[in-house]
Amino acid sequence: MKKQTQAIRIQAKRSHNREHSVPLYLTSSFTFEDSEQGRAIFAEEIPGNIYSRYQNPNVDEFVEKMCMLENAEAGLAFSTGMAAIFSSLAGLLKQGDHVIASNALFGSAIQILTKITAKWGIECTFVDGHDIKAWEAAIKDNTKFFFCESPSNPGLDLIDIAELAALKKGKDIVLAVDNCFATPILQTPLDLGADLVLHSATKYIDGQGRVLGGVVCGKAEYIAEIRFFARHTGPSLSPFNAWILSKSLELLDLRMQKHAENALALAEALQGHPAVQAVKYPFLKSHPQYELAKKQMKYGGGILTLDIKGGFEKVQKLSQLLQIVSISPNLGDTRTILTHPASTTHSKLSAEDRAAVGITDGLVRVAVGLEAIEDLKEDFLNALNQL
Ligand SMILES: *Cc1c(COP(=O)(O)O)cnc(C)c1O
Repeated sequence: MKKQTQAIRIQAKRSHNREHSVPLYLTSSFTFEDSEQGRAIFAEEIPGNIYSRYQNPNVDEFVEKMCMLENAEAGLAFSTGMAAIFSSLAGLLKQGDHVIASNALFGSAIQILTKITAKWGIECTFVDGHDIKAWEAAIKDNTKFFFCESPSNPGLDLIDIAELAALKKGKDIVLAVDNCFATPILQTPLDLGADLVLHSATKYIDGQGRVLGGVVCGKAEYIAEIRFFARHTGPSLSPFNAWILSKSLELLDLRMQKHAENALALAEALQGHPAVQAVKYPFLKSHPQYELAKKQMKYGGGILTLDIKGGFEKVQKLSQLLQIVSISPNLGDTRTILTHPASTTHSKLSAEDRAAVGITDGLVRVAVGLEAIEDLKEDFLNALNQL
């Protein structure tokens, strides 16, 4: 079956009630027929549900669909995207290991790598993600992990995933890609040679700004180690959130097509506006990595950035003039959202580190929603004309 069909048809096993839509399994634990069955399931001699910190039918259904979409052998769900990222690092690395990460990463991922895992003797070198030579030069004998985002949040920098995978080939290095902006509809990093793909399911996977969630998919041997860490430390996804996320995957393909169509149309409409220094979008010819975007991604995605002339003062004015667009730190919602990264998601970085990844004081991230494009264009053009 095609993925579009599987995203709709993969379901937890139907109960004796013959329900069509999967029920919510709001249960902390599961029962055993007798103590012998409990012993055998705990000993992993026979499969079975035990306790919802380990597994749950709603969570398993969500993970099965994600693995199908990402072409992954195995996967694991988490309470948030950050829990997925942290658990992957903590589950696979030990004191004395070395990580190389792109400097264009989600703000909290940078905090983990500089202030949390660093505290436990796991060192991290940050490099310019698109500079493959910089990755190569940073490799040491104890390098165990490559971590990147493509496209990056919020700078929309791309990394040639196949090139990075080729660089670590034959070495004992895990390549993990945060695929949050692209989703498996636009690109499947495992097919390009990555070992793990991570998501904040909070974003496009939910798609309506309702629940938090995270997921990691990839090589079974790595997922098993991360599972051991997660099983005993408890960053589990709630069954309710899993139910929402799994339902949302039924429409992911359709939604991503429309997000990308709207984002490209808006980027084209705002390009060259006198109040805007630059418009960045992977499928605009002016994007410095346009060729790579076309090669690596099916669509340009739902996010664009605008560098507003006049810095924060004008951004503040824009935020007051917009009528439809929400001002919020989320993305991937049906509602179009404007975010000012320098004062919110990336405010904990130094001005210097922000500048290195193109986060200027005038930069706004626009997560283009599913409203009628005519209304979005009108809202932005009206507001920008008044700046
Ligand atoms: C939002 C986001 C995260 C963090 O996910 P949460 O679900 O908020 O914990 C990680 N990576 C990227 C690229 C994100 O946009």
